[in-house]
Amino acid sequence: MTHYWPIPFIEEKTFSSIEEKKTVALVTTAAAWAAVESRLNLSLVWQAEMNEATVPAWRKLLDTIEGEVIYAVGGGLAVDAAKYLAAEKDLPLVCLPTALSVDAFLTWASGYREGDCVRYVETRCPDRLIIDYDVLASAPESIRAAGICDTLSIATGRWDWKYAEEKGMNTEATRFIPYIDRMAEAILNGSLDCAASAGRGERDGLKQLLDGLAMEVQMCNLIGHSRPEEGSEHYFAYSVENTMGKGLPHGDLVGPGILLMAEFQGQETAPLRKALEDCQIPLNSIPNPVIRETLLNLPDYCRKQGLPHGIAHDLTQDQIDRLVP
Ligand SMILES: [Zn+2]
Repeated sequence: MTHYWPIPFIEEKTFSSIEEKKTVALVTTAAAWAAVESRLNLSLVWQAEMNEATVPAWRKLLDTIEGEVIYAVGGGLAVDAAKYLAAEKDLPLVCLPTALSVDAFLTWASGYREGDCVRYVETRCPDRLIIDYDVLASAPESIRAAGICDTLSIATGRWDWKYAEEKGMNTEATRFIPYIDRMAEAILNGSLDCAASAGRGERDGLKQLLDGLAMEVQMCNLIGHSRPEEGSEHYFAYSVENTMGKGLPHGDLVGPGILLMAEFQGQETAPLRKALEDCQIPLNSIPNPVIRETLLNLPDYCRKQGLPHGIAHDLTQDQIDRLVP
């Protein structure tokens, strides 16, 4: 049976007003939990703090987990693990993001590291997503609105998608759909418009950013792939993470990836750079020699990992010399 996932039921309310009758298994990260613990009144019977996203780390938790509902409190690391546990144990899942740092709160897949790349496994979509704009506003500035990287990546992702179509590199399942491409462009424009406000932690800007992420995820759910949103900028991020280690947030890796790939694609980068800066995404976390080395190896990396075709597959030494001497 072909199936199409929904996005979670989204509620806007304060964390302190959550009334949970069931016993709770908490999946979190140390910093996120410290930030919101005092606002929550949950009957915790089990607790796990995540610091890596691998299937073996998740499997280990399956033996001990207790509780009638899983709460994911934090960012991508907590959510991806919680979705895996909820799927394996068939438990309801409630997500309490402490920053709008990724789109993982809205998706049905868990991203994990295996070998040198990030892979996704179908797990489940959270049942409820609870948004407390006060909590988001008080998140660390550099991750508060970093989820914008997963809508700004439409700029480079949709370019790759069309490029692959023109080169005959799309499969039957991922063929280019012009009206979806235009929808993706509209979502991109919506996030460019809200970047400054979201970056300041204002409710309206963060709401528009969340809406953009939700529409991007629902659109990908319906077409069955992420080509309008994920391309060479993510491949760069996946590859460079091997050199930089696992400590850097998604935005620190994808943000520079968007600017580099947009340059290679011949796109105007100023609006993208401004939106990233407005959302306070650190753009200088990766040293230049590491960027250069990563780019030089990227075509091979993309082929070896079997990633869908994009500009990253076709980068030449010449192009790289010009951009990152
Ligand atoms: Zn992403």
